Amino acid sequence: VDTAGHTPTARVATRSATQGRAHDSHKGQFGDVAIVGGATGMTGAALLAASAALHGGAGRVFVALLGDNAMTVDPTQPELMFRHAAHLDLSKMAVACGCGGGEAVRAELPRILSSAGSVVLDADALNVIAADTQLQSLLRARSQRGRPTVITPHPLEAARLLGATTQQVQSNRLDSARQLATQFACVSVLKGSGTIIAAPRAVPAINITGNARLATGGTGDVLAGLIAARLAAGMPSFEAATDAVFAHADAADRWPAGTALTAGALASALTSA
Ligand code: AMP
Ligand code: MG
Repeated sequence: VDTAGHTPTARVATRSATQGRAHDSHKGQFGDVAIVGGATGMTGAALLAASAALHGGAGRVFVALLGDNAMTVDPTQPELMFRHAAHLDLSKMAVACGCGGGEAVRAELPRILSSAGSVVLDADALNVIAADTQLQSLLRARSQRGRPTVITPHPLEAARLLGATTQQVQSNRLDSARQLATQFACVSVLKGSGTIIAAPRAVPAINITGNARLATGGTGDVLAGLIAARLAAGMPSFEAATDAVFAHADAADRWPAGTALTAGALASALTSA
């Protein structure tokens, strides 16, 4: 018990209630995130990533949906701000791109890859890049300018990027993650049981949290949004990826028995770093 009569438990509770934020914090300090994705029929992927960014502590979250007649508000998440991708100042935010983007994401990639902000590339963004050498050059060029970049392939997406088979990737996950990091000059997150985080010239990390309940639609989109929130808060890219991978899977490990783990509920259970 301290002089003010608080038990240590009470003081810990107070600190965790503010998620370690200084008393005089303002939203500008936690950064802006933009989610670019959600083509027609895949809006949910972008909304899940946006939810993860919000719950992960981003100051503001913008969503650029790529579908025809895209929604302009999500009544279940009124915090989100919907914009045309062209109207976002990408140099001042962390962008998570892919997330249900389909082929429509191709048109957005040159500007996103050339932007000065932080970038997370997932799913369809990676599939498009895997088949386009010009986009691959733009991706590699980011590292020379010191622009934080994280790619988050699952094994099939990794196989496409490496020109290999999924089986080859899975039979040597550590080397595959390293190769991705070296070839594209960025942080690579090779997802799946025992997710690997690699970066050029760094010792890779193998994540110890997580379980097969994560094997459900949308959890990858949630991870992309969470990494973007960490980058927006100013974390260096390797730490942002490692921390987010750990926290995302740790939330799954803490999931109550007998309760369904859905990607939306997982996003809501996330917390800032
Ligand atoms: P995606 O394949 O893009 O939908 O992403 C799925 C997410 O769930 C990634 O974060 C994976 O690492 C995670 N995941 C999927 N299956 C498993 C598993 N069996 N064990 C642990 N994590 C998993
Ligand atoms: Mg995915």
